[in-house]
Amino acid sequence: MLKKEVKKRKPFQLVKGMRDILPEEQRYWDFTRDLIDRVAKSYGFSRIDTPVLEFSDLFVRAVGTSTDIVEKEMYSFVDQGEDNLALRPEGTAAVGRAYIEHGMLNLPQPVKLYYFEPMFRRDRPQAGRYRQHYQFGFEVIGEPDAIIDAQLILIASKIYQAINLPVNIQINSIGCPSCRPDFENELKDYLKKQKSKLSEVSQARLLKNPMRVLDSKEKEDLPIIAEAPQQIDFLCEDCRNHFTQVLEYLDDLGVPYALNPTIVRGLDYYTKTTFEIWSGADEAGSPSSEAGRQSALGGGGRYDGLLELLGGNPTPASGFACGVERFIAQIKETDAKVPEKPKPEIFLGQLGPEARKKAIVLFEELQQAGIRVAENFAKSGLKPQLEMADKLGVKFTIILGQKEIIDDTVMIRDMENGIQEVVDFHKAVTEIKKRLEKSVVSDQ
Ligand code: AMP
Repeated sequence: MLKKEVKKRKPFQLVKGMRDILPEEQRYWDFTRDLIDRVAKSYGFSRIDTPVLEFSDLFVRAVGTSTDIVEKEMYSFVDQGEDNLALRPEGTAAVGRAYIEHGMLNLPQPVKLYYFEPMFRRDRPQAGRYRQHYQFGFEVIGEPDAIIDAQLILIASKIYQAINLPVNIQINSIGCPSCRPDFENELKDYLKKQKSKLSEVSQARLLKNPMRVLDSKEKEDLPIIAEAPQQIDFLCEDCRNHFTQVLEYLDDLGVPYALNPTIVRGLDYYTKTTFEIWSGADEAGSPSSEAGRQSALGGGGRYDGLLELLGGNPTPASGFACGVERFIAQIKETDAKVPEKPKPEIFLGQLGPEARKKAIVLFEELQQAGIRVAENFAKSGLKPQLEMADKLGVKFTIILGQKEIIDDTVMIRDMENGIQEVVDFHKAVTEIKKRLEKSVVSDQ
């Protein structure tokens, strides 16, 4: 009978814009998580994890309808219970929701929270842009003072310093609801006169949200943006004082910054201070420098109106968020020391089914004694096991063969000189510990 030909199935592939974080990448992720945890705790921040799913309206209201995120990038859908849900595109709105929902206003203020979470945006796929990417973010809720903004900027700079990456802060103030409308009118008048020279995207933004034209990355818009009226000339007294204080604190702290009137951050919820973190020791070219804009490592600012917008009491707040993938890409370019995965110290080899039975138990005892041990129980021949032990660079291999099973012993092989010694099975752990300690002393 003819064998029926089975057609090979096309293997599944990643969804566009998604990526796997493979084992060899994990040490960079561990390093980054550890660093963020350490820095956050040293400044009195507590970790918060919010769910990946929220009601779509949370982001629509917080981020604003005339933003790229809400207009075209949010993964939103109606679930089986007719709820309109969205995959979280950014962290601040969710943290604000949690602050209100859990009555954190009853805690001593300000409340300092940090997160390290995946975000989802149906962004245009391109190098360094993913549809699921991670951000670490720091939020301080419940304090209006400029000192908070300055300390957040300092923390962001220090995180990059820890990987030997010089950064500079591009900073601006976008005022508050009392002084922004005057500026917006002036800006609108100016941009209307230049309309025909603006890119298509900016022409559309001009109608809906003229401030967002300042955020444009289109080449033809840059000279127009460079000549545009600036918010800092329109700040009310309160906003001007606040901004001056932030800059004075940064001067005192020695944090390099450049005033950049085009940093408006594109999200509706910002007030007063807005900033981006750019790589480079100085101000990385002019404020409208294309390279700088494209390579923003992170950004943030004050959002005094957000909590009220989400249904809470009027509560001042400030924060920032940075992209983890971009952070890791920078680690690979700097000479930051990222610890290697700890290597095994010994290998446990076995020959035959009886030996295997004993080996799996001995493996546990070695682990419990704090010894880093490797094995390959899937292999039955000694040669491939010794080859693996060699490749791993272990100092000793314990061998459990048929003879050792009969004698209730193990063989300890010194991988450096090939000398083998027979030891009582029940003393194997203490003997190997002794040898490892001795070899550490002789390595020093
Ligand atoms: P944003 O809230 O858009 O300023 O994002 C904060 C930071 O997250 C940016 O400065 C980037 O470092 C990073 N980021 C934003 N969108 C993406 C993306 N699609 N892929 C990778 N990283 C991103």
